[in-house]
Formats: sequence, structure tokens, C-alpha cells
Amino acid sequence: MNPITPTIPFDAQGKQHGFLRLPDSRDTSAWGSVMIPITVISKGEGPTALLTGANHGDEYEGPIALQSLAHELNANEVSGRIIIVPYMNTPAFLAARRTSPLDGGNLNRSFPGDPKGGPTEKIADYFQSILLPMADIVLDFHSGGKTLDFVPFAAAHRLDDTEQEAACIAAMRAFNAPYSMILREMDATGMYDTTAEEAGKVFVTTELGGGGSATSRTAGIARKGVRNVLKHAGILSGVPEMGPSIDIDTSADGCFHISEQPGLIEYLVELGDDLRVGDPIARVWSTERSGQAPQIVPAQIDGIFAARHFPGLIGMGDCLALVAQRA
Ligand SMILES: [Zn+2]
Repeated sequence: MNPITPTIPFDAQGKQHGFLRLPDSRDTSAWGSVMIPITVISKGEGPTALLTGANHGDEYEGPIALQSLAHELNANEVSGRIIIVPYMNTPAFLAARRTSPLDGGNLNRSFPGDPKGGPTEKIADYFQSILLPMADIVLDFHSGGKTLDFVPFAAAHRLDDTEQEAACIAAMRAFNAPYSMILREMDATGMYDTTAEEAGKVFVTTELGGGGSATSRTAGIARKGVRNVLKHAGILSGVPEMGPSIDIDTSADGCFHISEQPGLIEYLVELGDDLRVGDPIARVWSTERSGQAPQIVPAQIDGIFAARHFPGLIGMGDCLALVAQRA
């Protein structure tokens, strides 16, 4: 049995705010608990949406959009049920870290979880065994965190079940981020995405910015996107508010540009810029001595500059650039 207990019911009508209480006995609080905020908004018959942010604790567009939704939405606007967990990995969120300070756990590599494991595995198990079975449609917000920055996109995965894949893609299109991506994960093991999809759910994820903060623009994309998905699901009334979106793809060899040396990075292009093979993306300057020529990192393929390393210093093996092809 998972030790997490909710402080509010999931089957009551109306709007409830409470916590998922995760017992965490520690030096500073012998009988203490991690309190994971949760809001449930329910009215009448209809599908259930499960909405999550801060699966990685340093990604902020989802938490902002979900706090806004939990605060603003009234139950009488809803047909069905919305379960909102703005800070899925609350310990990581409170520490402003990608992973949990309690056990080092990367929640999106901890699925399906373990009810007897560390705090992160317990959170994963609770979603896998309790929350996902209640849901019809699942939206999990991500951004680049402190070390990456992305052009804002929503994504759906290639799936073996073509009917489920089409439903996921339709929900991703309804989110209507400026970029849309259909992707096959390189290493899907342990991901919430995979767990939700294997449970047959309609699943949408995002990468909406990064750098360990959110901007007015990226938070706005998240706010519009979540309401669009709820309208698409029939949980909110009205039609999704649609604007242009560019289809991108990262399945080609050469999309990922991995740094082969550490250094002081000088980007020569902006996110969203079009690149041709050989175009210089960045100069990497020596951190050891002055007067050295920089290493120039060229684009390996034609495409859109879709993600970059965020901090000013780059390490050996860090993702320096993602160049996505137009789909
Ligand atoms: Zn993430």
C-alpha cells in the first residue's frame, strides 16, 4: 500500500484544495510529512483531466498555469473533473532543483515507482496506482530547467496503438504551443509519459522555455494551452483558442549537438533561427588561458535552433544545441 494519503476526497462535487500527505520521518521532524498541494474541481458527468507541473522542480510555466487555474476556475465552469497537482515533485520544487533533495530522485525517471522506496519513488507509485487510473486525459508540463532553454513546444509520442496516438496528437494540437512535436523517446524507461501511455491515457507533454525561470510569454503559452486542452476534452466549454504552430521533428541523426569540450560559450544564433548544415551555432572559448582560438560548433543538419544550453559555462558532454527539422 502506498503511504501517501489525500486530505480531500476525489469524488466530491465542487472545488477542494488540500494535500497529498507523504510521511517523511527526518532529523528536523520525526513524525513529519511532505505536503504536496492538490486541487480537485468536479461537476457532474464527464472525463477526468490530470494536470501536473514541477515533475522536475526547476521548471515553472506549468506551476504558474496550474496555480492560476486552481485559483480562478469555478466548479460551475466544469463538466467532469480536473485534478491539479502544480508541484508534482514538491521537495524538488521547494529546493528549486530538477531532482529531489530528499533522495536525489529524478521523478521522471522513477516510474512506475515503489510504495516502499524513497520519497520520489513513493510519489511515482501514487501517480501510477491511484491518480492515473482516475484520469482520461493527462497533461504534464515541462520546461528546460536551469540548464536548458527551448523554443516553446507541446509534444505527443509515437505509439504502437494508432488510435491512442491520434488522440494524443489531437490533444497536443489543441494545446497549440508555437511549436508542435511528435517524438519517439530515446530512452523511455522510467518516464511518467510512458506509464500514462501504457495505461491507455491521452497524454500531452511540453517544453516551454527554461533557464530556471518563466517569462510572461512562456507562462501565457502554458495558461492558454491548459485551457485549450480542457476545452478539447469537453471539460471546459468553448472551442480552443488557436494560432499558428510549426511542426518540428527531432528523429534525424544529428539533431543533438553534444559539447566535446568544456568552455565559455558564446551563442551566435537565437532560438527559433533557421540553420543550414555548417552554419556556426556557437564559439566555445577556453576557460584556462587567454589568446586561444575558440572552437566553432557548426550545425550538423538543416533545421530550427530548438534548444540550447542555458548557463554561460558549458561542460564536456552537455547538450549544446538541439536542431529540429521542420516536419
Ligand atoms: Zn522536465
